[in-house]
Amino acid sequence: MSKILANDGISESGKVALEEKGFQVITEKVDQENLIETINKEGIEVLLVRSATTARKELIDACPNLKIIGRGGVGMDNIDVEYAKEKGLEVYNTPAASSSSVAELVFAHLFGMVRFLYESNRQMPLEGDQNFKSLKKAFSGGSELTGKTLGIIGFGRIGQEVAKRAIGLGMNVLAHDKYTSEANITLNFFNGDKKTFTIESTSLKNVLRGSDFVTLHIPKLEDKAVIGAEEIGLMKDGAGIINTARGGVVDEDALMFSLDKGKLAYAALDVFTNEPNPSIHLMMHNNISLTPHIGAATLEAQDRIGEELAEKIIAYFNK
Ligand code: NAD
Repeated sequence: MSKILANDGISESGKVALEEKGFQVITEKVDQENLIETINKEGIEVLLVRSATTARKELIDACPNLKIIGRGGVGMDNIDVEYAKEKGLEVYNTPAASSSSVAELVFAHLFGMVRFLYESNRQMPLEGDQNFKSLKKAFSGGSELTGKTLGIIGFGRIGQEVAKRAIGLGMNVLAHDKYTSEANITLNFFNGDKKTFTIESTSLKNVLRGSDFVTLHIPKLEDKAVIGAEEIGLMKDGAGIINTARGGVVDEDALMFSLDKGKLAYAALDVFTNEPNPSIHLMMHNNISLTPHIGAATLEAQDRIGEELAEKIIAYFNK
């Protein structure tokens, strides 16, 4: 019976799937400094981590019985992936498990933005009982998403999930991807019907010029922001930007400047350049809808992550 240490936890559904196949799943957290000793003493063959536990060269060298390192989530900065592979280990992550969660957060922000919920939720507890009418006036004049154009920059897993939801709402979609020329987006309906749309990638400029809202779904590959003052300058007056990708993909100062000048009307941020200490100016800005990097953090995504890792581990030991 192989032993699995899920050091940063695993969903109940993933744990059950593994236990049903006879694996022993240990979820008691072991401190990083005692990890090597525990893995060797307990005869652990699979180490599962999220972002907290690290699996570096030293651990890989010191734990010869380890066969698999699994990362629940996408980024593998906490694992020496290439080194582990050189040493014959399997390294798994779960890149698709949270795409829907991030896509839904984009719409949570979008719906909130166009009706000023981010600010209304701040003001109602302070003044709602006394100044109801003035708040009603302040937050009237919102708009609808249906019929508007959503620009999607980065048309990979999350970008395509965003497109599905936008199409479902009756929005127009413009997409820009540096490396993908088109994608087929299939909408599955409640009655089993399906409809597939082919969306072609267009230039970044076209997306910026033609969209009412621009949402980013690209990795952060370089220091320079993909959306800075120049790119914002190309956008429609009164447009909005949503960044759930990575902090710094949008230049935060240029974003605040364009909101203050009224060039952009809305912004939403789930990710920040200086996490976990984002700029206080962003936090205090009354035109930005804010969340603390929770894009992937839904119960459903956690279940899918655990189940996807379980499937891969079971397949490995069945080989
Ligand atoms: P993906 O790899 O499936 O898609 C990314 C797409 O961006 C690819 O199609 C790629 O060709 C394209 N691309 C790369 N650089 C580009 C550029 N400069 N301009 C235009 N297109 C470019 O990745 P994904 O699963 O869709 O995730 C996208 C990003 O979302 C991740 O890199 C990650 O940073 C972020 N993310 C955030 C959260 C969160 O909690 N907020 C959760 C998961 C992922």
